[in-house]
Amino acid sequence: MAGNVQKLRIVQKFGGTSVGNIERIRAVAQKVKMEVDRGHQVAVVVSAMSGATNQLVGWVNEISKLYDEREYDTVVASGEQVTCGLTALALQEIGIKSRSWLGWQLPVYTDGVHGKARIEGIETGDLEKRMAAGEVPVLAGFQGLGKENRITTLGRGGSDISAVALAAALNADRCDIYTDVDGVYTTDPRIVAKARKLDKITYEEMLEMASLGAKVLHTRSVELAMKQRVRLQVLSSFNDQPGTLVVDEEEIVEKELVSGIAYSRDEAKVTLVRVPDRPGVAASIFGSLAEASINVDMIVQNVSEDGKATDLTFTVTRSDLPRALKVLEGKAGELGYASLKPDANVVKISVVGVGMRSHAGVAQLMFQTLAEKGINIQVISTSEIKVSVLIAEEYTELALRALHTAYNLDAA
Ligand code: ASP
Ligand code: MG
Repeated sequence: MAGNVQKLRIVQKFGGTSVGNIERIRAVAQKVKMEVDRGHQVAVVVSAMSGATNQLVGWVNEISKLYDEREYDTVVASGEQVTCGLTALALQEIGIKSRSWLGWQLPVYTDGVHGKARIEGIETGDLEKRMAAGEVPVLAGFQGLGKENRITTLGRGGSDISAVALAAALNADRCDIYTDVDGVYTTDPRIVAKARKLDKITYEEMLEMASLGAKVLHTRSVELAMKQRVRLQVLSSFNDQPGTLVVDEEEIVEKELVSGIAYSRDEAKVTLVRVPDRPGVAASIFGSLAEASINVDMIVQNVSEDGKATDLTFTVTRSDLPRALKVLEGKAGELGYASLKPDANVVKISVVGVGMRSHAGVAQLMFQTLAEKGINIQVISTSEIKVSVLIAEEYTELALRALHTAYNLDAA
């Protein structure tokens, strides 16, 4: 094996804290040098320094409340211009041939929707020639080219998407996302001391974990990686440990029943007490919420005992709760419910794992574990690879720890 290491093509992406100051940028250059010294072809993608984009957005809002979004993009894209130039310089300083690339210079083509553009394609011909000649390109993440030669940005946190899109366009063997955590954990290690770092997780599980609040990767970047079959690795730029690989299910031999337990406190529950039991009621309730752009997540409705009225419970994000209540109060006359009960002191806990596709009893173990701790389940929802329950927020820690043990996820 030794001396005969496979030459790979790798995209390395460094997030805001990883390029947070000059010392950190020098450390990033060393991480790049390590891969170059192994003989790999490397392309780098960087975010803005942590905090920089917030400051830029703040300035835009200060000068103009109803801003021209083309100018918003011109301003907020600039954070990445700084770090890609600095990173190229840091690489040059340690003897690595490097140059910076802004989104419009490749270009990274986007659909031109300012503030939340989607990448449509990346021109890589020039990059590939230079990479083959040993040069390391450093691309400014988060930005691209829109209509009429305008700069666009991909939405907050979008540099993960830039990295995955570049890895796909370059047909890279791996896309390494460097951040300030050292991988994806079985659950939040700040709450469960026995949480373990996962060696591998599937795209689908990662998507569920990401949309449920495990904020290591931008959800859209995982979707893109899954679609384009880009192998991802999440790892820390603050140490030299291997991270977590996000890969196709076929790559995982030992499938765990449950890979992780996620939780989201950004939940609120609304119960409509004694809603008339007739056709069209649900359509009217959820239709008007949708019209107000309020996303509904979990829903439970009972069969009415008397054929006249039943309770209906659903969840929305906490920030949408006041608006949801307003919409429903406005329809009180039409809907004819008895009362409206909001509750923001809830948390959604989800067990996630592709293994449950082929195994029964996963949900039952969850219900039983919570019952043993005296925790009442308020709402349940399931998908092919996930079981979620809504419980009182005060039980978050207790529930996470008990479930983590019950599914054998505890570190030895
Ligand atoms: N700098 C951008 C932001 O803060 C993009 C990123 O960091 O991914 O949203
Ligand atoms: Mg980020």
